[in-house]
Amino acid sequence: MPTEGVSEYDPTLGNKFVFVTGGVMSGLGKGITAASTGRLLANAGFDVTAVKIDPYLNVDAGTMNPYQHGEVYVLKDGGEVDLDLGNYERFLDVDMTFDHNVTTGKVYKEVIENERAGDYLGKTVQIIPHVTDDIKRRIREAAEGHDVCIVEVGGTVGDIEGMPYLEALRQFSHEQDEEDLLFVHVTLVPYSKNGEQKTKPTQHSVKELRSIGLQPDVLVGRSDERLDPETKRKIALFCDVPDEAVFSNPDVEDIYHVPLVVEEEGLDTYVMERLGLAEDAIPAAERDNEWRELVTRDRDGEVDVALVGKYALEDAYISIHEALKHAGLERGVDVNVLWVDADEMSPDHERNLERACGVVVPGGFGARGTEGKVDAIRYARENDVPFLGLCLGFQMAVVEYARNVLGYEGAHSAEMEPETPHPVIDILPEQYEVEDMGGTMRLGAHETEIEPGTLAHELYGADSCTERHRHRYEVNPRYLQAFEDAGLVFSGTAGNRMEILELPEHPYFLGTQFHPEFRSRPGRASPPFVGFLDAVLEHDGTTSDGGEGEGEEVTA
Ligand code: GLN
Repeated sequence: MPTEGVSEYDPTLGNKFVFVTGGVMSGLGKGITAASTGRLLANAGFDVTAVKIDPYLNVDAGTMNPYQHGEVYVLKDGGEVDLDLGNYERFLDVDMTFDHNVTTGKVYKEVIENERAGDYLGKTVQIIPHVTDDIKRRIREAAEGHDVCIVEVGGTVGDIEGMPYLEALRQFSHEQDEEDLLFVHVTLVPYSKNGEQKTKPTQHSVKELRSIGLQPDVLVGRSDERLDPETKRKIALFCDVPDEAVFSNPDVEDIYHVPLVVEEEGLDTYVMERLGLAEDAIPAAERDNEWRELVTRDRDGEVDVALVGKYALEDAYISIHEALKHAGLERGVDVNVLWVDADEMSPDHERNLERACGVVVPGGFGARGTEGKVDAIRYARENDVPFLGLCLGFQMAVVEYARNVLGYEGAHSAEMEPETPHPVIDILPEQYEVEDMGGTMRLGAHETEIEPGTLAHELYGADSCTERHRHRYEVNPRYLQAFEDAGLVFSGTAGNRMEILELPEHPYFLGTQFHPEFRSRPGRASPPFVGFLDAVLEHDGTTSDGGEGEGEEVTA
């Protein structure tokens, strides 16, 4: 996929910014729309990056409950960020840094620290200009060196928290050439009872934007179906944009098809024209087509795998879902994820576990659901069902082995059971003194040495791998010998930290202290996930088309 060297665009001309705001309601998928547009600009040869603005007061997403905000995504530099950054990394195939997630917490913290340091020389510190200046600085710094920077403002126009950001964007239009900026507004176009597409919510949302001095250049209408020509014309008229600046973004079955829809609508072409990039773009017929080929490739059947977690919400495990999907794209099958609630093993959930041809146990914090995870791991280990354990899933595999193979009664992680007689998982020594919860775990990319001749070595095809981490506890080295004597192999290590475990006698039993899901991309699936899927396909014998249809499917 194109990165540096392909683009003929001269970055010294200045960065181009695409500002994306949302109207009517949140959760419209404006991040996916923005990321898809970015993918197409990258296919046309431009170096594209993104900034996600989260107007909440949290400094980062690290302390947030996944039930409220979905998964906490981890960047290579250890930034704990909004899951939208994961979408940008996957769609654009870039690695971003913590600076690409701007939050109100970060901005205010900086401004207040500057004030305490006396940097404002006695002035009254105000939202305009001090807060807005800091917002603009952050956006410009993140964009530096790239051709195009997509800046997505989280939330909905009209939210109190979002105001300083919209004001900062307004100031951009006075400080930068018109040709360098494009304002895209994504709204909902609902249907009336008689099936008519309604534009009034869009009109109101644009009115709100204009009242704060922002006139959108492009409108994207999210709806079940494509917008009717009449609907587009009406939106153009009432929102004061040309007819050709209104685009449809209908529902699609797979988010990876959104770039295809955006391309058919011609949004990418329009964006390039408006930003003065069209002449430097790679001609349409010569553009990178890898994405389209990958996501429209024929699939040969479907396999069921169980995800044993505690948040019955797909967004809480989005990168795992995506990584399984990437492995599926690579092997030409659809991966169907069956939800198993580790905290409440109802008969439906037990049936899902038994129906699945593989078991994934994800990361997590706190005791809730851990016993269910240990039971699911035991089931996979004893029945030769392929197993992939990620972070807490890895730790619980160690606990399960200690209890059921080594016979260490009451073995546990010190996180769940501080008084356990066998703390096989214990707090990292460097964490003893840590008091703050935010940003203090072992975070981000760290290297793992891989033992030749192991499954992990075969998967990665290398003596080491660099994957992203997010944990406070790890395998207690005091028990290492006992585990190894009992047949558990730690095939990946970093000093005396255990990073990968495997069971040689099992068809596929692999756990990682790190989170390989964060580096998985369409077209570049994560090795532990591909290995897992291969084992699942083998376990399944033939690929089925989704089981025998008995029993209620429980999905997250
Ligand atoms: N709670 C565990 C720890 O802190 C696992 C973390 C995780 O799964 N991300 O080490």
